[in-house]
Amino acid sequence: MKATIVVLPGDGIGPEVTAQGVRVLRAVASKFGHQIEFREALIGGCAIDTMGTALPPETSALCQAADAILLGAVGGPKWDDPNAPVRPEQGLFTIRQELGLFANLRPVTTHPKLIHASTLRPEVLKGVDLLVVRELTGGLYYGEKQRTADSASDLCAYTAHEIRRVVRRAAELARGRRKKLTSVDKANALETSRLWRQVTEEIVRKEFPDISLEHILVDACAMYLMRKPASFDVIVTENMFGDILTDEASVLAGSMGLLPSASLGEGKRGLYEPIHGSAPDIAGKGIANPYATILSVAMLLRYSLGLQAEAAAVERAVNAAIERGVLPADIAPAGHQGASTVEAGQAVVAAL
Ligand code: NAD
Repeated sequence: MKATIVVLPGDGIGPEVTAQGVRVLRAVASKFGHQIEFREALIGGCAIDTMGTALPPETSALCQAADAILLGAVGGPKWDDPNAPVRPEQGLFTIRQELGLFANLRPVTTHPKLIHASTLRPEVLKGVDLLVVRELTGGLYYGEKQRTADSASDLCAYTAHEIRRVVRRAAELARGRRKKLTSVDKANALETSRLWRQVTEEIVRKEFPDISLEHILVDACAMYLMRKPASFDVIVTENMFGDILTDEASVLAGSMGLLPSASLGEGKRGLYEPIHGSAPDIAGKGIANPYATILSVAMLLRYSLGLQAEAAAVERAVNAAIERGVLPADIAPAGHQGASTVEAGQAVVAAL
């Protein structure tokens, strides 16, 4: 097959980890006989520095025409001035909105070899295999903002349509897994959550009678994620709850450096990125863990290009690299130096 992929390395460790993602995609293309064309573009802080905007129009246009987008991360202390007229994250928020990417998929699994990397007890981590589907273009992050000298507000708003489409996507994904859907809200306190619960109930009961649905409050969910994470299959939730819960869930896997994500809309085009940020503390040192980005590449192959066997091959190759003990510093046992970013990428290509 032929595909065009836009690569947005971004800032900090973004260019280091996306380079390994691209290397794995090239290896997949050559092994399975696909033609992948890569286009690189600017987003985030590096785009502000050279073009004065976090999302240059050229980048938008390339993304609109692509089959999929692979992104590193944006941001860093250089652009952290709260009074700056333009901030790196605006690039991300805008591209998600422009492409209509309303569902953010974040799978979390534990690897037996990495149990030591988590702060949780091994028996709690056994069998964890969950998928968080976070609503991505509504809620507090996109609502109207107001600010005076001594007051501020952020509006949290959702329409039934916005809830319906993301819950549908989550229920479809649950259908391909263990058929359990947990909807997370704060219906005891928030009007948006009461609408969320009502719409979710209607959609799942009517269109997905084979799926078992439960509703839990976000505070309880935060606790259960640490106490009995293996009990979850698919979790669906609104934007900010999903943002926070997925960082919490990264503790289960052992490191943010292991967690991929996919952002999808109605069509096949998607944006794929590790859940971590630009990690300015380790940028340029060649030690960032590229596995989250490489696992994001597997999601790209699966959801945007429809290449199931290739996606599974990449996931197996990452597992094999981990099995072989190629562990970057963030997941290496204490006292071990850890593999470099490039060594980890090479190990995945070798395993492929
Ligand atoms: P971060 O995820 O960048 O880093 C948190 C910690 O995890 C750091 O100690 C970092 O070294 C470590 N880490 C993260 N990814 C790693 C990897 N692949 N390998 C090894 N270690 C890794 O979060 P932060 O420090 O809160 O934010 C840094 C910058 O990134 C900020 O400017 C923030 O706004 C931005 N950010 C961007 C995104 C994004 O682009 N999607 C997401 C989150 C944060």
